[in-house]
Amino acid sequence: MSEPVIIKPYLRLSGLEPLVVRPETNFINIGERTNVTGSKKFARLIRENKYEEALSVARQQVENGAQVLDINMDDALLDGVHAMTTFINLVQSEPDIAKIPIMIDSSKFEIIEAGLKCVQGKCIVNSISMKEGEEKFIQQAIICQSYGAAVIVMAFDETGQADTKERKINICHRAYKILTEQVGFDPQDIIFDPNIFAIATGLEEHNNYGVDFIEATREIKRLMPLTGVSGGVSNLSFSFRGNEPVREAMHSVFLLYAIKAGMNMGIVNAGQLVVYDEIEPALRNLCEDVILNRNNENNEATEKLIAFAETVKAKGKTEVKDEGWRKESVEERLKHSLINGITDYIDTDTEEARLKYPKPLDVIEGPLMDGMGVVGDLFGAGKMFLPQVVKSARVMKKSVAWLTPFIEEEKKNNPLAANGNAPKILLATVKGDVHDIGKNIVGVVLGCNGYDIIDMGVMVPTDKILDTAEKEKADIIGLSGLITPSLDEMVNVAHEMKRRGMDKPLLIGGATTSRMHTAVKIAPQYDNGVVHVLDASRSVTVAGSLLSSDQKGEFLNKTRTEYKKLKEDFENKKPVKQYLPFAEAQANKTAIDWDNYTPPVPTFTGTKIFEDYSLAELRDYIDWKPFFISWELHGNFPAILTDEKVGVEATKLYNDANKLLDTIINEKWLTAQGVIGFWQANSDGKDTIVINNDGEEIHLESLRQQIKKAPGQPNLSLTDFIAPLTTGKQDQIGAFSVTIKGIEPHLERFIKDHDDYNKIMLQSLCDRFAEAFAECLHERVRKEFWSYVKDEHLSNEDLIKEKYQGIRPAPGYPACPDHTEKYKLFELLGGEAATGIHLTESLAMYPAASVCGWYFSHPQSQYFGVGKIQQDQFEDYLQRKEMSRNDMERWLRPVME
Ligand code: SAH
Repeated sequence: MSEPVIIKPYLRLSGLEPLVVRPETNFINIGERTNVTGSKKFARLIRENKYEEALSVARQQVENGAQVLDINMDDALLDGVHAMTTFINLVQSEPDIAKIPIMIDSSKFEIIEAGLKCVQGKCIVNSISMKEGEEKFIQQAIICQSYGAAVIVMAFDETGQADTKERKINICHRAYKILTEQVGFDPQDIIFDPNIFAIATGLEEHNNYGVDFIEATREIKRLMPLTGVSGGVSNLSFSFRGNEPVREAMHSVFLLYAIKAGMNMGIVNAGQLVVYDEIEPALRNLCEDVILNRNNENNEATEKLIAFAETVKAKGKTEVKDEGWRKESVEERLKHSLINGITDYIDTDTEEARLKYPKPLDVIEGPLMDGMGVVGDLFGAGKMFLPQVVKSARVMKKSVAWLTPFIEEEKKNNPLAANGNAPKILLATVKGDVHDIGKNIVGVVLGCNGYDIIDMGVMVPTDKILDTAEKEKADIIGLSGLITPSLDEMVNVAHEMKRRGMDKPLLIGGATTSRMHTAVKIAPQYDNGVVHVLDASRSVTVAGSLLSSDQKGEFLNKTRTEYKKLKEDFENKKPVKQYLPFAEAQANKTAIDWDNYTPPVPTFTGTKIFEDYSLAELRDYIDWKPFFISWELHGNFPAILTDEKVGVEATKLYNDANKLLDTIINEKWLTAQGVIGFWQANSDGKDTIVINNDGEEIHLESLRQQIKKAPGQPNLSLTDFIAPLTTGKQDQIGAFSVTIKGIEPHLERFIKDHDDYNKIMLQSLCDRFAEAFAECLHERVRKEFWSYVKDEHLSNEDLIKEKYQGIRPAPGYPACPDHTEKYKLFELLGGEAATGIHLTESLAMYPAASVCGWYFSHPQSQYFGVGKIQQDQFEDYLQRKEMSRNDMERWLRPVME
């Protein structure tokens, strides 16, 4: 028979890892910086909702050697329960922090309970006491016990906090008896805090506090040997605030004696404990005198220490991080930096590797690619998210930048020696289109996976793309585009590739592209491989298949078959939808009771320009959801910040974004330029809005839904929302365009610094500012300039949900899909001169962070999609537009059946 297992009565705590406190266990450091009352920085971060940065405070504590993490959210300005819950939940998803046990620290029991509900493993509650009587004490102890927590009992009773040795011992002993005899606590789960108070304050009655604590500890451990003793060490030196060297010395000296007496844990700043023997002897002696209350008649020792303290200059010592990984091999260090996105050491490590390897290129092909391989795998497995990958890429690029001159040098000496043989992928946003965030992201992700990226930028004509691809011997060409006319442009590129007899595969990506469009329109133009790529993470596998000689044939055959099938399905599709003859659709317009309606009159007609609008003001109007989507983090804001899967990364991204926003605003990197305008307008009763522009007539042409609707449902056209001339009522229409200027020099700087992360961040923030500007001006239009609502009080959330009266449809969007109406919009608003927005040949707006649209004020106006139109409407529209058939067809292709 085996021996029975005896479980020894040790305090057993756990985070993700166990922490067993054995008699021989050294003093346990409890990290104190995650405390809003003790750390100004932590308090500020929590108050500003910067939980991710606050997490880094916790991480630092762990890196600095904390074995338990004390968390305190007791601040009058905070909702403590919420803060405790949020922070602990975040901590739990960070394994490098959550590995150690938590100490839930609060003087409010409801906050403690909130913490207990979230924490995993066995934690410590800090603290319970008898200050509100035995009954409450027992009640709280039972709750702690039911969660399996150990408790700190503060030496506090109905009459107050224990200051003398006797009171400390008596209160602790009384609490012990209650906990062990009435509640059934295990003695080892009880830790006493006999109160460390400030000494050397100048008040004589404080002078013995150190001694009282040390002596009480000795007696407590004698009376109740299985219990622990803890305390908040920094209280001791409170009167030396601001003088860290003196404080650290006092803490070390105090701990030496207190630990000898039996104190076995303490809340300390783990990074800042000095070694007793390394304290300057003069300082050490003075500390011993005040702590042990020796030679201290008439505050003599205290005054000596105060005098000495003034001579000690704070040396501005920085905290030491857990830099254990720095001791690893250079390959491991490079990998660590890549995976964690750390750029701090990349130059020295790269140089070390360069000297170690025969050729500089070997460093790229060896350790760097290995590290990026891990990043790629983790990303592919959903264990890393796009923002992290982009940060890894930044490390990679910096390392490559270090090596490049050496590679060039080698090439000069021996042209055959350094032939980088990474496959090349050429990327370009097609002619007429200015959008490139998506393309940049794809480039970064592919770059991380070992491809050599040739990024040709935006608005690149077909010839230039194809000439470069041939000259550079690109292995793959990738096209990107965001607006509908770009689809046509991609068809042209494919067509031209065939004409030139090229054989490189063609990748298609970007917001308006789709598998269906690729299959139906682009793939038939080119026989040597056309593949639609849904997003950046997908691009890696696709490129991998296309560049592997084993897989390429099979992959392309499979894609070809799939696209052929899609095309056939598309062509054989029975028209399930029924359409009305155009005249019938026109007759079924939106029913609006114009007789009982008075169109509101704007405060001015013509235009009004907004120069250099306050970015600080626009910041409050930002809609964050699309920001996260551009980083491939999908979900609602702010819920995404605490999302189980992506919350931590989303929070980091959000914090980085806000930091950059601070800089952009403080240093005035960008200018917001906008224009709005109002004009008298009436509809012709059909599909034309006739605008009076200072006596000149401008005709806005709308498209109308032609699909057969359910009875009672109108066939919508934007024209419906403007009073027909026949009503005799003078109606109005408005328009706006806004842009964010000045991004270029900053982008340049980031590009030069190989910092894709900040480059893409800046681009996405510019887009946010443009949309926020549109939102902000629209609100002012409703309330102030058109002033058709006087008392609208909508939160940013409600604005994003468009809970207001009126719409601002954008040309090129579903209610008005004809981009060419933008010419009229821009002419009315004063052209390029008004805001500096330039229209490309595809009618994209440059700068890319620009938005424009029409204002409709009628309460029944709404967004809708025109859907597909029939030939009869096309003919009518063609007449009205006075444009060549060919041109018109090209622009309307996306909505033509
Ligand atoms: N809060 C979002 C707003 C942009 S999308 C952001 O920050 O990105 C909403 C805008 O798109 C609308 O204000 C309108 O200008 C345009 N829009 C949306 N649906 C439309 C439709 N069906 N027809 C025309 N424009 C539309």
